[in-house]
This record gives sequence, structure tokens and C-alpha cells, in this order.
Amino acid sequence: MQHQAQHYLDYMKRHAAEFTALRRDLHRHPELGFEEFRTSDLVARCLSEWGYQVERGLGGTGVVGQLRRGSGTRSLGIRADMDALPIEEKTGLDYASSRPGMMHACGHDGHTAMLLGAAKYLAEQGDFSGTLNLIFQPAEEGMGGALRMMEHGLFEKYPCDAVYAMHNMPGAPQGQLVFREGAFMASSDYATVTITGVGGHGAMPHLAADPVVAAASIVMALQTIVSRNTDPQKMAIVTVGAIHAGVANNVIPQSATLEISVRAMDAGVRALLERKLKAIVEAQAASFGVQARIDYRQGYTVLVNAAAETELARAVGRELVGAENIVAQGTPLTGSEDFSFMLEKRPGCYLLIGNGEGDAQGACMVHNPGYDFNDDNLPIGAAYWSSLAETYLQSQV
Ligand code: ZN
Repeated sequence: MQHQAQHYLDYMKRHAAEFTALRRDLHRHPELGFEEFRTSDLVARCLSEWGYQVERGLGGTGVVGQLRRGSGTRSLGIRADMDALPIEEKTGLDYASSRPGMMHACGHDGHTAMLLGAAKYLAEQGDFSGTLNLIFQPAEEGMGGALRMMEHGLFEKYPCDAVYAMHNMPGAPQGQLVFREGAFMASSDYATVTITGVGGHGAMPHLAADPVVAAASIVMALQTIVSRNTDPQKMAIVTVGAIHAGVANNVIPQSATLEISVRAMDAGVRALLERKLKAIVEAQAASFGVQARIDYRQGYTVLVNAAAETELARAVGRELVGAENIVAQGTPLTGSEDFSFMLEKRPGCYLLIGNGEGDAQGACMVHNPGYDFNDDNLPIGAAYWSSLAETYLQSQV
């Protein structure tokens, strides 16, 4: 088996220059969510050339490449995200973004290139029997491209017995693979609270209903949801990230607005946070004689990895990079990821690949203008997907 792992790595190393050039080309031409026109052109062109049956435009700019082989009845989905972020790049790299205000600051260029690397190997040499679905999704960054592809029939048109995806992780050693069974990433919900009072002269507060004082009290009261209502063993976050009100020191404004981020690691806590947030805002507002309007939006759901699929993912990782280079049960992350919607419908596993520990200042985090995907991960990630696809589509259930 060790011999086989080396076989994938050797193939990827032979093609490293090609996939690095491809990744850097994507990096130079970042596109925002649902605008991945050039990127999806490139992905579709590669897949078609290599013999995949390709569908374009699924869920906007999504692409699916399907490869069937033999008489096997199993089907596997592997997903990569393609979108960039509205950030002005400051890396100074010679392949830095050519587009002002847009940047691949989350490494989705690398994720796309890793899956294309595997796609090429699997088309040329893939030893499996069954159906392989490579899913290139748009708009992972906050716009739910995964959900959009599913709403447009992803799993009906391309049934998958299991789904997998990988994200790079700055700070973890380069090439380390991190797994976790169970909840791995948080749900992410949003609330906008608009508090409407009665404006007036700052010298005559008794004739006004002050939304600023009400907002300040609400911000503090909301902190008790985590400290007093949530099981201390469970993760919960309520962050008021923006507060807007008023224009002058002597004017009591008419209204105030709060922007709130709410995160949890299980569905029960998630529901509790929503319920308590609404109750506290309404009761607080009433106590101050102001009106509160709550616009509560559910974003990405908790990402939960299935037991059997995670165990298979670990086994493939162990064989490829060695037990000393994997973390079998990593710490849950408070960020969120729309692959969670796919994992609600299909069992599977989302894993991380270390992007390197950086210099003395530490690793540059994703969503930072100085971030770059580590190209040394291209052969490892592509070999990983190749191995996973063959392993999954060779085993029988
Ligand atoms: Zn990302």
C-alpha cells in the first residue's frame, strides 16, 4: 500500500510545474462568487479535454465533471470551491491578482488546482469501478454556492453515496492533514436589530425615547446568553460587530442599528441562541419604551463529519503522509463553511491541509491581504484526492 501512495505522489510531482502554473494563473485572475466565468471556463476545458462528461452553469457558475468506469455501483462526490474575495492583494508576488479589489485570499485557487490535479490522474490512470463526480462550486464565501447547486439538482443529477472536501489551514504544518468526526465547523447566523425610539434634544432626555441607551443595554444583555443560558460545555458565540446611531453630542437620534453574528456547534444551541436573542431584544426594548425590529437570517449550518466516511478519509491520509503527519481528531473551528449543506444531505468528511507555520510572526491567515496558498500542497492534495477516489470506488459495501 505504501508503494501505491508513492505512485500518486510521483505522478503529482512529475506534473507539479503544470499544476503550479495553473494555480498561479487562477490566482492572477480572481473572481467573486457567482462571477467565476473565466475560472469555470478553465475548469470545464480541462475536464472535457481529459474525458470527463461536463455540465456547466449548475447553480450559476458551478461545474460538475463526471467519470464512470466499470460496472461498480458506488458513486463519490469531491468538491472544490472556486471563488475569491473582495480584498486588495498586498503580497507583492509576481503572480499577484491582476484585478483591483479582488484576491484569492482563502486559497480556493489552490483547492481548485488540487482537484484538477486529481482529475487528470484519475482520467489517465484511475483504477476504480463506479462513478466519480467532481464538483466545482461557486460562491463559498457567504453566498452559499453549495446550496445553490443543490437547489439546482446537484444530487438528483449526480447521485453521490458520499461527499468530501478539503480546505487549507494556515498555522498547521505544511501538508499535515487534519480530520475530525462529528461537528467540525460552526453554524453562522446573522441578525440586524433596528431600534426605533423618539428623537429629541440632548438637554431634554425625558421628552425622548433614547435608542442609544437601549442599544447599549441590549449589547450587554446579549452577552448573558452565552454566559448564563448556554451549557458551559458547548460552544456559542454572540458578537455585536457593528453599532450605528446618532450624529451629534446634543441630539438624541431616532434610531440605532446593531449587526450581530451568532455561531454554534450544534443545532440545539443554535436554536437556543436565536430564541434567547429575540426574547432579550424584545424585552429590553419594551423596558426602554422603544421598538425593536429583528431581522434574523440563518446562514451556514453546523458542519458535521460522518463516522465511517471520516475513518476512511483518515486511513487514506495515514497511508499517504504517514500517521505522524495527520491529526486524527482535530479541534472544532468557529468559522463556517457551506459544504455543511452537502453534509446534511450526504455522509462525508471535510478535512484540512496545513498551509505552513509561516515565519517568526506566524502564518498569514486566510482573508488577509498578505495570504497565499502554499504550492507545496498541490501534489499532496491532488494525490490525496486520487487515493481517496480509488480507495472509495474500489471498496464494496
Ligand atoms: Zn475558504
